[in-house]
Amino acid sequence: DCRTATIASTIRVIPDFPKPGILFQDITTLLLDVKAFKDTIDLFVERYKDKDISVIAGIEARGFIFGPPIALAIGAKFVPIRKPKKLPGEVISEEYSLEYGSDIMEMHVGAVQPGERALVIDDLIATGGTLAAAIRLLERVGAEVVECACVIELPELQGRKRLGDKPLFILVSAV
Ligand code: IMP
Repeated sequence: DCRTATIASTIRVIPDFPKPGILFQDITTLLLDVKAFKDTIDLFVERYKDKDISVIAGIEARGFIFGPPIALAIGAKFVPIRKPKKLPGEVISEEYSLEYGSDIMEMHVGAVQPGERALVIDDLIATGGTLAAAIRLLERVGAEVVECACVIELPELQGRKRLGDKPLFILVSAV
């Protein structure tokens, strides 16, 4: 699809952010381009509109940018998966490992019912730890995770391996 080449060209790469040696993929410049942002949402909507998905789980923070417009377009609800101590209601938590140390993701109890068909959305997959934690949260409440979707993949980090047999759909591969 020629739309993905344009989308790729709008993503800015910032060296040494947030730490020296990291090449940060910045999607805020994609959002400034009205056509690229719309094409991004349209490509996801075209893929998921007839897949009987009842819930889109978006990962803090940039999954909150891409998830809701897709959810509205396909008629699914939106559920935020957040960093610790942000959600006010009762939560379930999943810890996941980072390069140094670990982090936690949380989801509201009661937001997703057993048997629901879920799609997990984030801007980018690096090591896959974040998406893997989101999958565990959804599966713990009995949902079926149909697929994970990101705008960008950093393929060198082989994050797909951490998703087990879960399909991952991406628009842009950063090399
Ligand atoms: P992972 O858990 O290692 O796959 O890291 C993915 C998470 O880190 C996602 O929530 C991303 O938003 C964030 N992340 C890691 N690297 C980048 C980057 O270069 N640009 C934007 N987000 C990033």
